[in-house]
Amino acid sequence: MDFPQLRAQFPTLEQTLEGYPLCYLDTAATSQKPNRVIDAMTQYYHNNNANVHRAAHQLSSRATSQYEAVRDQLKGFIKASRREEIIFTHGTTESINMVTHGLINQIQSGDIILIDTAAHHANIVPWQELAKRSGAIIKPIPLTDDCRIDELAYEELLKQKPAIVALCHVSNALGTLNPVNNLVAKAKATGAITLVDGAQAIAHLEIDVQAIGCDFYVFSGHKMYGPTGIGVLYGRFDILDKLEPMMTGGEMIKAVSFDVTEFNILPNRLEAGTPPIAEVIGLGAAIDFILALPKAETAQREQTLLAYLQNQLTGLGDIHLYGANKNNIGAVAFNLASEHHQDVGILLDQQGIAVRCGHHCAMPLMQSLGIKGCCRASIGVYTSKEDIDRFIEALASVKEMLL
Ligand code: PLP
Repeated sequence: MDFPQLRAQFPTLEQTLEGYPLCYLDTAATSQKPNRVIDAMTQYYHNNNANVHRAAHQLSSRATSQYEAVRDQLKGFIKASRREEIIFTHGTTESINMVTHGLINQIQSGDIILIDTAAHHANIVPWQELAKRSGAIIKPIPLTDDCRIDELAYEELLKQKPAIVALCHVSNALGTLNPVNNLVAKAKATGAITLVDGAQAIAHLEIDVQAIGCDFYVFSGHKMYGPTGIGVLYGRFDILDKLEPMMTGGEMIKAVSFDVTEFNILPNRLEAGTPPIAEVIGLGAAIDFILALPKAETAQREQTLLAYLQNQLTGLGDIHLYGANKNNIGAVAFNLASEHHQDVGILLDQQGIAVRCGHHCAMPLMQSLGIKGCCRASIGVYTSKEDIDRFIEALASVKEMLL
């Protein structure tokens, strides 16, 4: 892999901030976009801009072909068994809301919904809303001291035959990786419906939804080198087919009269209104970008870089790492002694270093760690060893200033 050539594909990275070259360590919040994604969207607007599925004219059929081709691409990318199992949404948050709204008629009062303690709020709050509407009961799946799912406690909870098990694949706050194949298999054995939030996994791991065995798998385009405003809801056909649509209107119908409306079949049934066409096309280009990377070499490089980041942080002293492990993916969570994470983040920013500070939309996880928040440094395919060195050097100067 020619790393300088790879990095040069990301125009945002080529800038200085107050004299410092940008050091972008916030990929878990959103990844930078390669030229091919930006170009694909521009090309669509320049040449093919038309609404999809609706018109007989050529421009519309070009737009429709481009749009539907990405559905086929995604089917292969996550190894779904049918193209109808891929629903375009605006992001992970919308995908999960579509599931929680769609299941309303299948959840009864008293049903149990198990949720990973490390889940992002997007995988907590929609379930709480479903629980409010249905009378279901939310139960968190506890973590061990090293921030993994406590499998014994999980197995105990499964004995209560939960209706739903909602897991994250990779924690956005900590980068910890769940053994989802195993966790899902155990949940399925008790009859639960399973959802895996893959927002932080999709850019780093090869995803095979059939091997994972989950009913739903969700992710966002913007965390996998694609545009914002596009996400994916994968659902196993038979369960997806039973979801009540969260949104109704154009595109999702077969026939409408004032007496009765007949909904369309999948996937249209769950895609009401004009979809984010340019964003879908941008997502297709992001998939092409990922598939063009040498798989094993890229994964190895990211693992080596993450281990280096963890080691360098530890070596600095007065750093507390949360859930750090050699199997983690893409991110490291830390605090500098008892300094406020926000102060550390602002001082790093003054040297051109972009990290995320706060509760990372995972307040229950922060509560379980006994902290209000932390800093998170996260990496992508474009992150260099020099980025890590610059970050560590800047953090050393912040430490000197504050301690
Ligand atoms: N789930 C996880 C694990 C995430 O990291 C994020 C975003 O940070 C989300 C859900 C929400 O994604 P989006 O804001 O793209 O809907």
